[in-house]
Amino acid sequence: MERPRVNAPAAHTPGPERRHWPAIVIGAGPAGAACAIRLAREGVHVLLLDRACFPREKACGGCLNARAIAQLDALGLTNPVARFGAPALTRLELVVRGHTHALPLGASVAVSRATLDAALVDIARGNGVRVLQGVRAGVGAMTEYGRAVRCEEAAGVRTLTADVVIVATGLSGRALPVDVCGPLVAKPGSRVGVAATIDAAYEPPPGVVRMCVARGGYVGLARQEGARLDIAGAVDPAFLRAHNGTPDAVRALLKEAGVPAPEGLDHARWRGVPHLTCRRAHAAAPGVFVAGDARGYVEPFTGEGVAWALDDAAALAPIALAAVREGWSAAHAHAWEACIRRRRGAKSLSALLARALRSPAAADALGAIVSRVPGVAGPVLRLAGRAPPRGHTPPEVSPA
Ligand SMILES: Cc1cc2nc3c(=O)[nH]c(=O)nc-3n(C[C@H](O)[C@H](O)[C@H](O)COP(=O)(O)OP(=O)(O)OC[C@H]3O[C@@H](n4cnc5c(N)ncnc54)[C@H](O)[C@@H]3O)c2cc1C
Repeated sequence: MERPRVNAPAAHTPGPERRHWPAIVIGAGPAGAACAIRLAREGVHVLLLDRACFPREKACGGCLNARAIAQLDALGLTNPVARFGAPALTRLELVVRGHTHALPLGASVAVSRATLDAALVDIARGNGVRVLQGVRAGVGAMTEYGRAVRCEEAAGVRTLTADVVIVATGLSGRALPVDVCGPLVAKPGSRVGVAATIDAAYEPPPGVVRMCVARGGYVGLARQEGARLDIAGAVDPAFLRAHNGTPDAVRALLKEAGVPAPEGLDHARWRGVPHLTCRRAHAAAPGVFVAGDARGYVEPFTGEGVAWALDDAAALAPIALAAVREGWSAAHAHAWEACIRRRRGAKSLSALLARALRSPAAADALGAIVSRVPGVAGPVLRLAGRAPPRGHTPPEVSPA
């Protein structure tokens, strides 16, 4: 098949204006930025594109577990507590039907995604990654020079090419045509994600993540750096439709759990994510690898997406590096798909726990057992990704 011709190649053009890149990463969230950093450290010229300009907000609870903290540490982002003045999380409160079940937490931190993602992009730059913001990118056809990437920016549209394109565009990105890796298909019954950050003199105090469970969904409340209150939840679409907008739905969920609603919900800037539980048929295609939420996500009760995204970057980087050095082949695609299959177990367990906790009665019963019976909290928190695995020494998350 003759490949369509795009730009004249300028593979050896030095500097940022080259048209052909060994690696282009689309999406500078944790998956994309971490992958870009890891490739750049191996000497690969990487172009990292994002449609947003950093710092940018993202619908997220911003609670990082021990695994996420360890991955960030390996990327050079050490001790987020001291670095960002972010609260170390010491307690998880499960609030359901008016009961509060308290569980101790270790090695977790609450940091806004505006701060975290901008810091990762800075680290990428520091490692030699060329970062372009405000660029909406889309994967194009295979060409004789590599995979085409269409870049739409204020100055106009241009097409670049790359030996390897990594798509890390999250749940709401539209960079992949459906004939490349298939669409992100939502699982029936999938909840939608909603989140906002507000200034509110309201519980919980810094260090506590409060999960409020009701029939139509759940809402997590945690203070981040600067004592801003992050509100993030997963809500049944029908519950959301039955209410007069997101603030009303969040108020109703908090009321059913038995928690007073903070003021300021109506004026907050709500961000949403459709279909928290979804999957793409393939995570690789010629010249393309898909990483992070862009390849699929399961709604975990406690939020582990950042750790999963960073794990993806750590696992994909050596495969993408081999593809850059050896030239892309189907073997690289198989290696990435096989790697994903091997790591699927942890996500399934988290999804199972999230599913079980959809019933407030079950959540109440589990909360009572976990908070009162010695020896149960550890395994349940480990299952929920909220405690480091056995034998693992958590990285430092102490104040400076
Ligand atoms: C309500 C809610 C609460 C959550 N709470 C937590 C939590 O407490 N802890 C946790 O660990 N995880 C949490 N998560 C999950 C977590 O936010 C995600 O799993 C994580 O952000 C995935 O990272 P990513 O890099 O794959 O994608 P993202 O972080 O979504 O980054 C994707 C990037 O791609 C860019 N992009 C998209 N399309 C294009 C395009 N065409 N061109 C250029 N750029 C593009 C976007 O601007 C964005 O910067 C939560 C999620 C939701 C919805």
